[in-house]
Amino acid sequence: MLFERPLLFLHAFSGDEARQLLLQESDLAVVILDLAMERAGSRLDLVHFTRHTAGLRNSRIILLSGRQGQEPALDALIEHDISDCRTREELSRERLHVSVATAVRAYKQLCVSDTSRVGLERVLRSSASLLELKDHHEFASGVLTQLAALLKVEKVGVVCAQEAANPDGCYFVQAATGRFSELIGRSLERLPQTAELGLLRKAAESRSSVYGAKSGLALHIGHEDGQKFVAFIDVPRHHAVLHPPLLDVFCANLSTLLHDRGLLGRLNESAQHDPLVNLPNRAHFVGAVDECARQGLHDRILALIDIDDFSATNDLMGHLFGDRLLERVARCLEDALPGNVLLARLGADTFGVLGATGQVQPRRLLECVRGPLRIDGVPYKVSLTCGYVLLPQVFRTGADLVKDATIALRRAKRDRRGHELQYSDQMGAEARSRALLLSELRVAIENRELFLVYQPQLDLATRSVVGIEALLRWRTKDGRFVPPDQFIPVAEHSGLIVALGRWVLMAACATMRELMDAGDAPRRMAVNVSTVQLQDPGFLEIVCTALASNGLRGEHLELEITESVAALPTELLISALSALRAEGVSIAIDDFGTGYSSLSYLEQLPLDRIKIDRSFVCQLGEADGARIAEMVVQLGRKLGLGVLAEGIEDADVCRALLAMDCREGQGYHIARPMDKKVLLAWLRAHCRNPDAESRQPPALPSVHVSFDSRGGAVFGTEEPASPILPAASSSSRHAAPGRGRHTCA
Ligand code: C2E
Ligand code: CA
Ligand code: CA
Repeated sequence: MLFERPLLFLHAFSGDEARQLLLQESDLAVVILDLAMERAGSRLDLVHFTRHTAGLRNSRIILLSGRQGQEPALDALIEHDISDCRTREELSRERLHVSVATAVRAYKQLCVSDTSRVGLERVLRSSASLLELKDHHEFASGVLTQLAALLKVEKVGVVCAQEAANPDGCYFVQAATGRFSELIGRSLERLPQTAELGLLRKAAESRSSVYGAKSGLALHIGHEDGQKFVAFIDVPRHHAVLHPPLLDVFCANLSTLLHDRGLLGRLNESAQHDPLVNLPNRAHFVGAVDECARQGLHDRILALIDIDDFSATNDLMGHLFGDRLLERVARCLEDALPGNVLLARLGADTFGVLGATGQVQPRRLLECVRGPLRIDGVPYKVSLTCGYVLLPQVFRTGADLVKDATIALRRAKRDRRGHELQYSDQMGAEARSRALLLSELRVAIENRELFLVYQPQLDLATRSVVGIEALLRWRTKDGRFVPPDQFIPVAEHSGLIVALGRWVLMAACATMRELMDAGDAPRRMAVNVSTVQLQDPGFLEIVCTALASNGLRGEHLELEITESVAALPTELLISALSALRAEGVSIAIDDFGTGYSSLSYLEQLPLDRIKIDRSFVCQLGEADGARIAEMVVQLGRKLGLGVLAEGIEDADVCRALLAMDCREGQGYHIARPMDKKVLLAWLRAHCRNPDAESRQPPALPSVHVSFDSRGGAVFGTEEPASPILPAASSSSRHAAPGRGRHTCA
């Protein structure tokens, strides 16, 4: 035994036998050659054979000579890597043992460094393979693949990249596998505080590789002044497939490749480039705007151009067609712009333009797609909308300026499709306050600050209650009321209205049930529904659930929609409304006359009632003021629809309406919106004495609302005193005529 391994002696008794043996064995530690075996004149033939023909580079060779002076010259010893040379007389038993032991030890070391060399080759090959990768994600996941292969472990790990062009920037997870896979996209600071992931933080801080005390290993890749990566890979404790110095070589090599061979540049380029339309992407664009702003270039315009109805085209014509359309539009814009104007693709169907004000004219730019585009031979008409901002004197970052242009674009999309709109500070202030309002609304919903109030609708001739309109209220914790005209458009714009509207329906139906149980229920409960809700494919089911879970029939519910439904595709609208009516639900058109939908359009819709807008009703007292109201009443009669006047504030108006044969109405003159308990009292009193005029009831508790985490509605407990809109401030708040619930975004 030598060094814990058995020692095996093989013997050859002639040069030829020796040659055969040398060819058969690949793991010979020591070759002891007796020079007497060699033919005269070619004493080192066997040595040469051992090294070159048998390829035994690491085997140690000990030469035995018959007498002093027979041993080869020193340079031959060196050339053939001969470890030792002895005469037979010299070689005692002990001496041979020492010589063999020394040779075996040397052989072992050589083999180890051989593994290192092979490892090194693998390391170099694997880092070179990473050169082919196209972007940060690919690179990061390539690092994991190569590390796992090098270390011969499973690919379980995390790779983070530092924000480009910021030596102190955050690291974000670019690739993660195995049990870490859900960490992708997170910043290093926000990763779970485990010992394993702690290694990543240590590697990032120390800018060197860190070995875990128990398991795991974190590497640092990248140069001091360039972008950096840190990689964690799960390796068992004392894992020794690859020597630690080789891992350092792997890291150093990758760092150099990243730096010298322009890999990082290419990775960055792809991080800055949109391959589909072959244009710079958002990151590049924002950077360029930033640069412009930093240089104080004010005669610059930043325009965002969006393809109208692109997602509908995509759905209808398929994504391939959508891609071609994007390419065509990109080329049209490119052709319409001078070469020194930057054109980029910022999002799905949004392009960004940055150039001198003299060179970019938004209106002209929109005309670059005036004729139909030919896509796959098919002529296709598109229209573009543009929002733009002129770079201001005061410094704003690139990201802020793009945000400003986005605000103008959104506004243009809503009010001026197919046209351009310039950003103004007022627009920005409004958008920001809407964003603020939205976040406050979310909190308000959590805090159960929203509730319903109810306003009776009367048959004006008999004064019997025919219906009740449910109206949403938001009372903040400090007692302030936020008017629905303000928060409902925000809820609509954000989509929150779908969940909120579902709760309104549920709560209104629950109240209807209570009124029925109390024996005071009118024929129907009217609920306001926004266009966004109608578009929701689940809307019919929501309505049916609200009815069924309160034991109501469709006839007990009326939905009030506005003329803005005209924005919906006619077929979709007609089928949605027809399905509701098939359930017995009636449909009223609210704020009638304030929108711009054509009568012929309204004629097609399955409707039951028209509500004359308050702005026309309040003019009834004035000379000529009755004209529009009268026309609406006649129109309703012609179309076979019921007519209800809203905003009746005094007895004269009520009489005027009756005179023109408007049968139904609601308004402060009859009753203000009330919360549920007050409503119950009002209904009871009204039944006893229908001719009594408006009383302002005392404040009472009301139903509150909150949402569960999935956006589903949760009914609130009855909370202490939540007064209904105070009379004094309410009339001024509601006096503004002509506002609809879809007028602001
Ligand atoms: P709307 O549907 O036209 O509701 C009638 C509005 O007129 C209510 O304002 C009501 O309080 C007010 N009003 C009633 N009688 C009189 C009167 O005699 N004089 C005056 N000056 N005003 C009167 P409110 O509650 O502020 O609601 C404003 C709008 O907010 C509603 O207009 C409706 O468009 C929307 N809205 C309210 N609740 C909801 C809801 O639950 N869902 C949706 N989608 N919209 C709602
Ligand atoms: Ca209404
Ligand atoms: Ca109305």
